Amino acid sequence: MKVIKFGGTSVGSANSILSVKRIVEAINEPLIVVVSALGGITDKLINTSKMAAAGDSSYENEFREIVYRHVEMIKEVIPAGEAQVSLQRRVGELLNELKDIFQGIYLIKDLSPKTSDTIVSYGERLSSIIAAQLTGAEWFDSRRFIKTEKKHSKHVLDTELTTSLVRETFKDMPRRVLVPGFISTDKITGEVTNLGRGGSDYTAAIIAAALDADALEIWTDVDGFMTADPKVISTAYTINELSYVEAMELCNFGAKVVYPPTIYPVCVKNIPILIKNTFNPSGKGTVIKSDIAEDQKPIKGISSINGTTLITVSGLSMVGVIGVNRRIFSALANNGISVFLVSQASSENSTSIGVRDADADAACEVLNAEFSKEIETGAMYRMTAESGLATVAIVGENMKHTPGIAGKLFGTLGRSGINVIACAQGASETNISFVVDSK
Ligand code: ADP
Ligand code: ASP
Ligand code: MG
Repeated sequence: MKVIKFGGTSVGSANSILSVKRIVEAINEPLIVVVSALGGITDKLINTSKMAAAGDSSYENEFREIVYRHVEMIKEVIPAGEAQVSLQRRVGELLNELKDIFQGIYLIKDLSPKTSDTIVSYGERLSSIIAAQLTGAEWFDSRRFIKTEKKHSKHVLDTELTTSLVRETFKDMPRRVLVPGFISTDKITGEVTNLGRGGSDYTAAIIAAALDADALEIWTDVDGFMTADPKVISTAYTINELSYVEAMELCNFGAKVVYPPTIYPVCVKNIPILIKNTFNPSGKGTVIKSDIAEDQKPIKGISSINGTTLITVSGLSMVGVIGVNRRIFSALANNGISVFLVSQASSENSTSIGVRDADADAACEVLNAEFSKEIETGAMYRMTAESGLATVAIVGENMKHTPGIAGKLFGTLGRSGINVIACAQGASETNISFVVDSK
């Protein structure tokens, strides 16, 4: 049995969803297909709600485009007849609900996170019923078995409950199943939630892990996992094989091709992940697994994230004091702020942490409060934050056997006149990250 996921562009147009149909039909084993919303629809749903909440009546035009995309796709891919009529009716009902919700938002000019989560869920609900009809697969509602709970005001997966519900749901699984990715419900209130932007990959991984699938396939719009984002680096090429660790390092650092939480559940079960191109199905793609073929390349890929802020915690009292780092990380963790890079030199008088721009103000506030006594006595300084930065990482498990990589990396940057603001390399030696000006 395998689980196979198609992203937004793969179901985004009549032509691409017809490729999906062909790919699914060529598979001769029990299959769970997970689909994202039609490409661009999640953004449009968010945008339409914001316009409506701001009292901008042209939200109606945006909404009409959402309607048009779905209605036209059905006309193009489902032959005229009873099946087409009944599908248009089901889709029409969902679109009518959506229309009422948008109108409500427009009238009361209020958009709560709960309403927003409900609205974005329509993207996958719509795309999945179209894809189910097209592929002849039985539709299952992932809101019934993907369950989240609230932690630090974020919705996170309840793995145990979800695993048992998935197993229960697919006890006697039909040969071909289709489920919407991304969407879920709160385990207590039953309200609609989601797994975060890009979360359909995660839906597929959760199901694959719960059912001990033979493989997880992620079908997207590029030829596999590449050495860098092909939209940024035109000479990037497909990597044949990656270890789970390498894939995780690259995804965590901005390789959008796989949503970061996707890797862990399948890695634990040793289920291989195959990344394939819906628009080039005969391409080899990339396999992510634990035992990859010997490969001499020290670096497998480069990834980067813009929108980095570096916060520096400093003060003379930090030298030799035990517990400053514990306080930094506890304070941030207790406020749900994620840190993706840490750099502390051995003189110990400052620790720099990399956070996303969106978290920067909150992080400074939390740390200034945590160290308010020390700041008052002058033992420590107020936090300083530098925004407008980018973090770049080079990744490869073979780096740990190869001296001179860091030298070559920083030498190259230096010769090119690029100033490194902070850097970090863990003892695992699989990743060297550095922070530079975004430019
Ligand atoms: P989907 O809608 O199928 O989930 P995404 O847009 O989420 O697709 O992910 C695919 C995109 O990820 C590619 O179009 C590419 O621009 C981007 N990307 C970033 N880094 C990489 C990488 N290292 N390898 C391949 N694609 C990458
Ligand atoms: N449709 C959702 C998004 O755009 C989930 C996904 O595509 O994986 O984020
Ligand atoms: Mg994606």
